[in-house]
Amino acid sequence: MTNLIASEVHDLLVRLGVPAARFTGGTLAVRSPVTGEEIARVVESSADDARRTIGAAAEAFKAWRRVPAPRRGELVRLLGEELRASKAALGRLVTLEVGKVVSEGLGEVQEMIDICDFAVGLSRQLYGLTIQSERPDHRLTEQWHPAGVVGVISAFNFPVAVWSWNAALAFVCGDPVVWKPSEKTPLTALAVQALFDRAVSRFGDDAPAGLGTLLIGGREIGELLVDDPRVPVVSATGSTRMGRVVGERVARRFGKSILELGGNNASIVTPSADLELTLRAVAFGAMGTAGQRCTTLRRLIVHESVYDALVPRLTQVYQRISVGSPIDSDALVGPLIDGASFEAMQATLRDATAHGGIVHGGGRVDVNGPGSFYARPALVEMPAQTGPVRQETFAPILYVLKYTDLEDAIALQNDVPQGLSSSIFGNDLREIEQFLSGSGSDCGIANVNMGPSGAEIGGAFGGEKETGGGRESGSDAWRAYMRRQTNAINYGRTLPLAQGVTFDIG
Ligand code: NAD
Repeated sequence: MTNLIASEVHDLLVRLGVPAARFTGGTLAVRSPVTGEEIARVVESSADDARRTIGAAAEAFKAWRRVPAPRRGELVRLLGEELRASKAALGRLVTLEVGKVVSEGLGEVQEMIDICDFAVGLSRQLYGLTIQSERPDHRLTEQWHPAGVVGVISAFNFPVAVWSWNAALAFVCGDPVVWKPSEKTPLTALAVQALFDRAVSRFGDDAPAGLGTLLIGGREIGELLVDDPRVPVVSATGSTRMGRVVGERVARRFGKSILELGGNNASIVTPSADLELTLRAVAFGAMGTAGQRCTTLRRLIVHESVYDALVPRLTQVYQRISVGSPIDSDALVGPLIDGASFEAMQATLRDATAHGGIVHGGGRVDVNGPGSFYARPALVEMPAQTGPVRQETFAPILYVLKYTDLEDAIALQNDVPQGLSSSIFGNDLREIEQFLSGSGSDCGIANVNMGPSGAEIGGAFGGEKETGGGRESGSDAWRAYMRRQTNAINYGRTLPLAQGVTFDIG
């Protein structure tokens, strides 16, 4: 099977337009989590390459910001066309490189297409305000200008969608993009770069060289983007540990960062919940993508009156959910990204046991031999929200807690350092609205009668506290990629000063 994966990956990359020299004979070994075997050796960027690439992007900015926004939208429209035409191939590559089950690999590409469509419309809607002036014959307005080069640092678990959330908006906003993908997933990035280059070649000469580029490598290459003053906006997706470093370093040079970091997402199951719907939503939210989504459901807070009707059934689902290869079975749970991830999961389960947790599942499942790491998702009944429950372990572990009063459940939900996503199950209007109110969930996302994961691109995506505070994708997230300018225009013949100030020079 090993050679089959490597050769399929090779064929897909060539078909998607990546020169073989980019992924053979390089220094960065890429392994497929499906089998654990090496599938490519990618050429890494040097520090000099990185500096040159950033310089080229800064040059590109001077030309791109002068291209009218609706015309910039045309480039993103062409990118969307390329993605549509290559959806099957790119989705398959996501499955082979990250281990996502087939529908999730395809879903990730669909998300890229969706944000392109959104950005094309946005390219005619980068609205500013008109503001009433307190002075006669004056007009006050606010307009939005391109910000400059956007550095995108992305995580392994959404290897291509995260780039598109940033890049589609940045391009229509007038910004070049330099992308540093996860060192675990350079192949899908190479493929996306090839599709982007194809869109550029169809677009015409007004797309400058260096508009959208790729840097391959690890933390050190990312740091060059983080520290370079020619990159005014850094959008970084990954662990809170990474974001703490990146946020500080970008702030030190007064750059702006968009931080999309770890989550520790909870759902509250109230007495009026539809338990059939809840069961299905919890299963997808907690076990989908093998628990490797930032929005994965990690804590289930269940009212004591429905605990016995829900939790034993959920435990049964955990016992029978299909765990297996995403390419030759229709399993719903694929592999973890690597051995370190599996070890972290096991260490967390031991810690949970030490804190009084009762662990169901969580063991290793032998699917494709010792090099790959498949695990049965774990459901852990916890007496309290202590120890590992307060941290994000990037694996399929669901902690289950019991509550009596909704106030306490909401307080429990909010009492973790992270603030990405949350949800409530129920049909009691008062309880639902309490959860959605200003004194309810403190997360960037709060859903009703669905899990915390599986967001659409139309809303602003991101979270509070240690999740970083950034917003990407829909709504008015585009503003982070532009700079705001306030204009006061005097079209009269006198010079009235604001706040009634006088300054008579005679
Ligand atoms: P990670 O933090 O290990 O790496 C993410 C990226 O940051 C990689 O490209 C890495 O090379 C780079 N990086 C690491 N340290 C850096 C530094 N000091 N300077 C510059 N770049 C640096 O994360 P991961 O394991 O790839 O992804 C999993 C994590 O990402 C989870 O915590 C998950 O919750 C989070 N995530 C968050 C979101 C979100 O939108 N909030 C989305 C996806 C993933």
